[in-house]
Amino acid sequence: MFDYGINFWAKDDFIIEDGKVKLGANNKIAIIDIVNKVRESGYRGPLLIRFPHLIKKQIDKLFNSFASSIKQYKYKGSFKAVFPLKVNQFPNFILPLVESSLDKDYGLEAGSKAELIVAMAYTNLKSPITVNGFKDKEMINLGFIASKMGHNITLTIEGLNELKTIIEVAKEMESPYPNIGLRIRLHSMGSGIWAKSGGINSKFGLTSTELLEAVNLLKSSKLISKFTMIHFHIGSQISDISPLKKALREAGNIYAELRKMGCSKLSIVNIGGGLAVEYTQHAGFNNRNYTLDEFCGDMVFNLKEIVKSKKEKEPDIFIESGRFIAASHAVLIAPVLELFSQEYDEKALKLKDKNPRLIEELLDLYNSIDERHAMEYLHDSLDHMESLLTLFELGYIDLQDRSNTEILVHLIIKKVIKILKHKNHNEIIRIQEQIQERYLLNCSFFQSMPDYWGLKQNFPVMPLDKLNSRPTRSASLWDITCDSDGEISFNKNKPLFLHDVDVNNEDYFLGFFLVGAYQEVLGMKHNLFTHPTEFSIVLDDEEDLEYRIENLLEAQNILDVLDDLDYDTKEIERILKQRIEESDKINDDDKKELLGKLYIMLSENGYLRTIKNI
Ligand SMILES: *Cc1c(COP(=O)(O)O)cnc(C)c1O
Repeated sequence: MFDYGINFWAKDDFIIEDGKVKLGANNKIAIIDIVNKVRESGYRGPLLIRFPHLIKKQIDKLFNSFASSIKQYKYKGSFKAVFPLKVNQFPNFILPLVESSLDKDYGLEAGSKAELIVAMAYTNLKSPITVNGFKDKEMINLGFIASKMGHNITLTIEGLNELKTIIEVAKEMESPYPNIGLRIRLHSMGSGIWAKSGGINSKFGLTSTELLEAVNLLKSSKLISKFTMIHFHIGSQISDISPLKKALREAGNIYAELRKMGCSKLSIVNIGGGLAVEYTQHAGFNNRNYTLDEFCGDMVFNLKEIVKSKKEKEPDIFIESGRFIAASHAVLIAPVLELFSQEYDEKALKLKDKNPRLIEELLDLYNSIDERHAMEYLHDSLDHMESLLTLFELGYIDLQDRSNTEILVHLIIKKVIKILKHKNHNEIIRIQEQIQERYLLNCSFFQSMPDYWGLKQNFPVMPLDKLNSRPTRSASLWDITCDSDGEISFNKNKPLFLHDVDVNNEDYFLGFFLVGAYQEVLGMKHNLFTHPTEFSIVLDDEEDLEYRIENLLEAQNILDVLDDLDYDTKEIERILKQRIEESDKINDDDKKELLGKLYIMLSENGYLRTIKNI
């Protein structure tokens, strides 16, 4: 039961064995061992681990699944794909992605000038590039330059004005010209929290009337032979397959109609992104109602049926899946800094010779608790606590009494949980709802999981080890920003249980999984916490226990962060130095040492280093 739903969200990318989370590749390397190894070299704070073999695995899955649907339905078009850069532009993701797909028709999709430059530099010349999003003349020029370099590039037109600009640029430039795609505005809508890109009111795409006008413009400017693709994208993380099928049927009919109107080079239907990722850790809360095979089968079958009924050629199928390819490759590791109740230790109890009556009763409850009375005593102690807190407000008991109350109640809670540990799950959940433990994590949700903050997207989370023992504490998670939104609270419908650990004596790490799509570039420097220290785990051989740690990039240090905000960091250093040197509150002998300490801190990242960790 306490497998954190790993079979829902990880399939066999990660597994649990010997109480640890391990790579599902045959080598079964434990993530905790990787983390310990990197920390031994002195790296502290949160870590972002990339697993390039999981990028390749997703690309292979996508291509294999389409290949088998194409074979099954004897479909005559081919399958091609691009990775949309906006989902993850980091070089330690993109370079392995390009390298592991050299044998496929797999390229990059760009939505801005900077992304187009990345695509032009790193896409293999044989592989496709598509360009979506709003474009000015300069960006269109860039597309023409790419085609002169030998790239197989398609500029997707979002509106008639862009098409007019392309016609203008084509008059100024010699061939070869880029291919032209038209983004169609669909009647169908997506579903799910990201589904704002489709539909008749969407931000992008040409209406039927505009499509007809576009075809006329293409014909009159003799560019119709460059028009090869129609494109739609109904939104990301499409949870329900039916709107996708509906969109595809609409697009298939538009494809066939346009061909009948003389668009004879039109040969590709680009179905955009939207292929969903399963993030759920709990049965009954699935994020998608289809499998990859069902998705591919539906796309191929429906297109085939439509063009058959319209007696047209079966188009090539082109996809721009981002989330599906990138999500699984990155795992965020957050060290637990503190459990909120850890200071409520028996040692901290300072009972007086004479205590208020209710405190004496709490003490009795604590000492005499047993399995039969556990729940009853727990409720009594919570009632007593309420009364004692009221007494404090009214001035009848002092701060020491109040502290003793808090400690005793926490001790009772822990004892009850321990006693009932083996009991049935529901009962535990019932107690846990009332008494949660707060886990303070050395990371920033704003930086590393902005979609949690912005869209309440949950990412699977679990401890990296101790999975042989039952977690007993209902957990809410707190990051180290001083923002109250930096909290993942306990949800009784999707409960998270963690272990009762003494983090002063042992390390305890949580892994947040499936954070490889969208989170990194969307991440915010709230409180000036930066992108965590990252590295890639390269497996030469998935059977072998050997692995290499590559591309280690340490989190930005404090001065660099301030430099990014355009502070004059030389000036900051000068002022700090001057203030120490001129202070009459520091002995002259100590000034040098203090300055040294300050400089070390400025050269490190701003995440926390606990005493134990130094
Ligand atoms: C964002 C985007 C994608 C990627 O969508 P995913 O849901 O991540 O697969 C694909 N195409 C276009 C045009 C996009 O804007």
